[in-house]
Amino acid sequence: QGRRLAALANAPTRTRDGAEIRLLANAEMAPDIAMARARGADGVGLYRTEFLFLRSKGLPSEDEQFIAYRDLVLGMGGLPVTIRTLDLGADKADAAGLVLRGEDNPALGVRGVRLSLRYPAVFTTQIRAILRAACYGPVRVLVPMVTVPDELIAVRTLFKLARQDLKRESVDLPEKLPLGAMIEVPAAAINVRALLEHADFLAIGTNDLAQYVLAADRGNDALDNIYNPLHPALLRLISHVIGAGRRADKPVSLCGEIGGDVRFTALLLALGLTEFSMHPGQLLHVRDRLASLDRGELRKLAPRLIRAHTHEEVEELLAKLE
Ligand code: PEP
Ligand code: MG
Repeated sequence: QGRRLAALANAPTRTRDGAEIRLLANAEMAPDIAMARARGADGVGLYRTEFLFLRSKGLPSEDEQFIAYRDLVLGMGGLPVTIRTLDLGADKADAAGLVLRGEDNPALGVRGVRLSLRYPAVFTTQIRAILRAACYGPVRVLVPMVTVPDELIAVRTLFKLARQDLKRESVDLPEKLPLGAMIEVPAAAINVRALLEHADFLAIGTNDLAQYVLAADRGNDALDNIYNPLHPALLRLISHVIGAGRRADKPVSLCGEIGGDVRFTALLLALGLTEFSMHPGQLLHVRDRLASLDRGELRKLAPRLIRAHTHEEVEELLAKLE
């Protein structure tokens, strides 16, 4: 199996019936980026910037961030990279002391874009670093934990202001910089058409979306029976978001753990997903799995999958295909 997988490193990603699928990598450190390239990723679908804030004492400077983002862009050699703005809070406490202490429900608290907008100066430092790095190759910006369109509008405004400042400082600027929303809050998924008026693309974060839809902490092992990505309520939301993106003619990827888990590849194909983002170690496994699946057949199953009453029913529908 190892040799067969290795041969897939430079192969195109296609289903058995010839549908082209984009495989993106979730990457942060240099080894992830090298692995993403070596395994033929079509780009980076999720670059988590938290690690820059978790490891350093204090806040990373604009130049430190710029160097990390530029190296990512250069490392991907002209392939598109998606830089996610800071997603601290909840399970991701920081070294720099930005995260509010003493929140009763940190997962429902000031995290992701809520935290960034609370500290416009810190956020602007990150935004300037991203703008500078985006001159070195195609970059997209992804905003975590978006709940309402106002948050995207506020982020766009900060980008506009940072552009004006950099221009005044005679710094090179990218022509365009698409801005997208993570869909990981149930309200954002249900009301996704409102966000699509302000977003250039979407990325579904099923780790958090499942946590919030099922009201089950993503890290709590005692809830394994509840935290089930096959729950029909979650499938309905994923399908709804993919369909809305398609109708608006805007790209939709999925970057939660299930995106790189071959047990869910058929399901996601059935729901209409065409862009999968995953840990680079999973790229060849998913490419191999996709080659064995018939997208046309799977798509016909979508209405039954999202109308299922239980995750067991979903499992049965999928098992029939094997
Ligand atoms: C997600 O929530 O699915 C996601 C990809 O983001 P993170 O795991 O970093 O919260
Ligand atoms: Mg998340």
